[in-house]
Amino acid sequence: MDKEIALTLWKNQMRAYVSTEHLTRSEIYSLLVENDIPNRDRILKHLAVCPDCNTEFHKMLQAAQECRYIDVALPTYAATRNLGYCEIETEGGKYVIRIRQSFKDKKRGIISVTVTPPLSENLEGSPIILRDGENRKIVEGVLVNGQISQKIENIDTINTERFFIESQK
Ligand SMILES: [Zn+2]
Repeated sequence: MDKEIALTLWKNQMRAYVSTEHLTRSEIYSLLVENDIPNRDRILKHLAVCPDCNTEFHKMLQAAQECRYIDVALPTYAATRNLGYCEIETEGGKYVIRIRQSFKDKKRGIISVTVTPPLSENLEGSPIILRDGENRKIVEGVLVNGQISQKIENIDTINTERFFIESQK
C-alpha cells in the first residue's frame, strides 16, 4: 500500500479512537516547559494516540528549539542626540553597539556589534541581527572574531531610542 494512503488511514482510525477532547495549546506547551504538571498522564496518553495533537506538539517543539534570544540596549540621552560616534552597551555588557557617522556625509556611517566573552565563544559563527527602535533590521551578519559590522546608508533615519539584538542560543 502507498505510504501516504496508509498514513491517512491510520490517522483517520486514530481520530475515531480518540474519544477524549483534544489538548489545549497551553496543555501541550506545558509539556515543553515543565516536568511536574497536573494531568501529565492524561496529556501524554492523548498525545500518544492523537495525530492532530501530536502534529501540534512537534510544531511547538520546533518553534521552541528555534527560539531566538533578544537583548535590548537603551542608549543614554546624550548618545541619541549626538550620533557622530557612540558606544552603547546592553545590560550586563554582553553586547556593545558602536555607531560611527561619516564626517563628510552625515547620512552614512558604520555600525558594529561586538559580543564580549564568554558569550562570544558560544556565538562565533552564528547569525546576529541588530534592530532599531522601530524594529527595523539595521545590521545582519554572522559573528566573526566576536563582531559584525556594516556600512549604513541613511544612518540619520535610524531610531536610536533603543536597539534590539537577536541571537541564537
Ligand atoms: Zn488531540
